[in-house]
Amino acid sequence: MKIICIGRNYAEHAKEMNAQLPTSPLFFMKPESALLRTRDFFYPKFTNDLHYECEIVLKIDKVGKNIQEKFAKTYYSSFSLGIDFTARDLQEKCKKKGLPWEIAKSFDQSAPLSEHWFSINEVKDQIDFELKLNGKSVQKGNSKDMIFSFDNIISYVSKYVTLKRGDLIFTGTPSGVGAVKIGDNLKASLMGKEILNLNIR
Ligand code: MG
Repeated sequence: MKIICIGRNYAEHAKEMNAQLPTSPLFFMKPESALLRTRDFFYPKFTNDLHYECEIVLKIDKVGKNIQEKFAKTYYSSFSLGIDFTARDLQEKCKKKGLPWEIAKSFDQSAPLSEHWFSINEVKDQIDFELKLNGKSVQKGNSKDMIFSFDNIISYVSKYVTLKRGDLIFTGTPSGVGAVKIGDNLKASLMGKEILNLNIR
């Protein structure tokens, strides 16, 4: 399986990163070794500025390539929350030099994922989520603020990359990203239910 991550999918986050709004989805990937399913995240030695990015995650149900947007809904039925951990200091260096982002984004355990999945049928018209750092709200997101919808994303990505059953799509983070340090706790809730609890060790 692979993890596809969308960058700059919320206008307010693009603004806080001093980035231009994308005209088509921007994506990068994390390998399977980035997945973290325990409550403990160990702060990597190679960064001094590790940022959380809380994101809605879609799970792909079946194989597809060149998926038309109008059929995209048939390729997923569940969603959850994850953190796209980012070594911001390394990412800034990569950006300046025009280099790929892998060392900043794709390292081991850089993709903590909740075990709890919601059915897309439970959604009326929008999905809201929230991230708390040490009990204080730091990110509030709503799917209605996404620049590119789930269906847009699936159609676009599948032009380039075949999607397979079990693949995950991190759909971008809202504004409020920030640094964590050892001893911090992150709790994320989706549609009012706390489903991710992570200790930074
Ligand atoms: Mg992200």
